[in-house]
Formats: sequence, C-alpha cells, structure tokens
Amino acid sequence: MSSEVFYIVVAMMLASATLSIIFFIAWKTLGEQPYALSWSVGFLGATCQWFFTLQSDWFPSYETYWLTVNVFALVLITLGIRGHCQRTDCQDLPSNLWPYAAVVYAGIIWTTVVDAHIGFSVALIPATACVTLFLSALMIIRHREVSRPAEWAAATSMVIFAISQGIAAGMAAMQGAAGDSTYQSLYVDYNFLTLPAGYMGMGMFIIFMLASDISIDMKQLAIHDQLTGILNRRGLGEQGASAYAAFRRTGRPVSVIMTDIDRFKFINDEYGHAVGDAALVHFAELLIENRRVDDILARVGGEEFAIVLQGADLQGALNIAVGLCAKIEAHAMQIDDNTLKMTASFGVATVSNKDTCLSDTIIRADRALYRSKRAGRNQVDLESSQLMWSTHGALKPIST
Ligand code: GH3
Ligand code: MG
Ligand code: MG
Repeated sequence: MSSEVFYIVVAMMLASATLSIIFFIAWKTLGEQPYALSWSVGFLGATCQWFFTLQSDWFPSYETYWLTVNVFALVLITLGIRGHCQRTDCQDLPSNLWPYAAVVYAGIIWTTVVDAHIGFSVALIPATACVTLFLSALMIIRHREVSRPAEWAAATSMVIFAISQGIAAGMAAMQGAAGDSTYQSLYVDYNFLTLPAGYMGMGMFIIFMLASDISIDMKQLAIHDQLTGILNRRGLGEQGASAYAAFRRTGRPVSVIMTDIDRFKFINDEYGHAVGDAALVHFAELLIENRRVDDILARVGGEEFAIVLQGADLQGALNIAVGLCAKIEAHAMQIDDNTLKMTASFGVATVSNKDTCLSDTIIRADRALYRSKRAGRNQVDLESSQLMWSTHGALKPIST
C-alpha cells in the first residue's frame, strides 16, 4: 500500500468511526430512533472495512481479504438504506433487505473465487451503493408532500454521491477480467478522491436532517396537548389565525364552538385523577370522530375545548354543536363495571366583520358557553342574546 493510500484509508476509518459514534449519540439522546442505530451500526461496519483494508497482510490470500472487507461494506450499504426506510416509514421496499445483500455478496464470491473477474468483483459494491443511494434520496423526497430544506440538501448530497459511485463502478468494471492496471489505478485514484467527501458530506447532511426532524418534533410538541393529542391553546392561536386570514380573504364563514365538560370536578373527586384523564381522552375522541376535514380542534384549558369550523355559519355551527351535545350525552364512558355518563355545555359564535382577530369570536363563544352553564348545563347557547335555538335546531329571534 502506497503512503498516500495508507493515509486516505486511515482517514476513511476515522471518519467512519466518528460518524458511527455521532449516530450512536443521536440514537441515545434523540428518543432511540431505530434509524439512528441502523446508521451507527452501518458506519461501525465501515470502520471495520477500512481497518481490515489497512491490515490486508493479516489475510492468507487476496480472496479471503476481499471477501472479508466486502461483508463490512455491505453492512454499511444495507443498514444505510434500511435506516432511510425506517425514518420515512417506506412501505415500497421489503423490510428485510439482507437477502438482497446476500445476492450481491454471492455475486462478489462468484467473481472473486468461482469465475474470477476482477473488474466485476470490484464494481459490485460501488454499483450497489449507487442504486441504494438513489433509492434513499427518493425515499427522503417522497416522504412528505413538501420536503424541508434539510431533506433536499441530504437527498442532493446522496444523489451526487450515487453518481460518483456509479462512475467508480464503471471504472472498476473497465478493468476487465484480468484487471487492467490503467483502469485499476484510475479507479483507485478516483475512489479515494471522492469517497472521503462522499462519506462526510452525506453523513453531515443526514445529521442536519435529523436536527431538522427534532426541531419539527419540538414544534409539534409545543402546539399539541400531550394528553389528548389535539392542538393546545398555542396551536389554536396559530391555526386559528390562518382560518381568520382565510375569512378575511374569501368571506367564507368561520364559526367557533367552545365546550366545557359539566361537573368535571365531580369525576375527579369521585373516581380519581386517572379516570378524570381518561374521561378527557374519551371526550376528545368523540370530538375527533365528529370533526370535519377543515375543522380545527383544540384543548384550551383543563376540560375546555374549542372547535373552529371553516365554512360553517352560525346556523351550521349551531347544528353541529347540538349534534355534539347529544352525542356526548349518549356515549357514556365505561370504567371497569361502572358507566360514567358525561355531559357538556356549548357556546357558539361566528366571525363577524367587526372582529379584528379570532380571539374576539372565541371570547363571544366563551360568553355563550357560560350562559349555557348558568342556564343548567348540557345545552348549547349562542353568542347573541338576540338569538336562541329552538328545540328543532333552527335559529329564531328571541322576541318571536
Ligand atoms: P362546570 O360544570 O361548571 O364546568 O364544573 P366543573 O366541575 O367541570 O368545573 P371546574 O372548573 O370547577 O373544575 C374543573 C376541574 O378540572 C378542576 C381541575 O382539577 C380539573 N382538571 C383540569 N385539568 C385536568 C387534567 O388534565 N386532568 C384531570 N384529571 N383533571 C383536570
Ligand atoms: Mg367544567
Ligand atoms: Mg372549565
């Protein structure tokens, strides 16, 4: 091994070990995501590959050396693409990719010892890396309707690396069966020129992508209620602002239903806090089941929820609230042998041209909710004292 190749192989080994440790730390600290572990073990395989490349004189023959380092190269390739399958939850590829790795390995054995062809036996690994890198980049981009900048960056770095591995495979194959020395040195020079940047570039962009995953997860956590999984007050603020802006732009009606579970304190006092929590989840599930596509649903307080209805006027929102009120009363919760009947009160308001933001409407819906509490609970009231709902669910002026 020439001294240049020695230094590059040492650099590759250290780079692989560093990436393996980084992905291991990412796995330990970022919620033990399985893909981070796949990549960590994959780069551990690459570390072994480069270590054994350095120690090639330990092996009794070229064939045993070559068949050993290629096992580790295939570990990196297989776990690399497996990690992208796990991260993107891709269903298009089989979950177990090892049989495919075994087929490639059988090809390497064949071209190394059975029907020796140096060109093909060297080209198989970069050719496989080329295909899996393309597929991984495709998975990243297809994962979301709108990919994030970090995902575009990672996918682009992988496509560039895939193209470079494809070129390396072509150069390797051109060595032919006997191993033409011109193409062999061209392959070695090209490979060692591109591999370090390919490894580190791809590794860094993937880490950048993981960091961006975390920031998205944090944002999701910040706007969602942990107990019920629906939006919290902050999430309502963000999404409600978009609904209000759409109302201003299009004039399409937007209404708000505020609802609060009746005598919830009694449930807590009688059955304990855990049952109280289960009752909140049960209540939220009923609201989720009856939600329309555009509706924004949020838990805005202890047992108080808001529904922003896009495309529903006051009459439409009233009908929905009346339906929900009846459903909640009809769907009791089962705790062990006991049936826990729950009711809730509702307040409804619609966005008017006078409202400067959705909070104005929410305040009016909240006032209506407390009117329905004062009137005896388990009922719906409207924002305006000029209106009331008839038993048939139709709006009528209070004076008639
Ligand atoms: P009302 O019919 O007037 O709404 O009476 P209420 O008992 O439902 O209202 P109140 O505001 O007196 O009680 C609400 C209770 O909700 C008090 C609080 O301990 C409980 N609570 C708030 N958040 C949670 C929670 O996350 N889990 C549980 N189990 N209870 C909660
Ligand atoms: Mg209550
Ligand atoms: Mg309350």
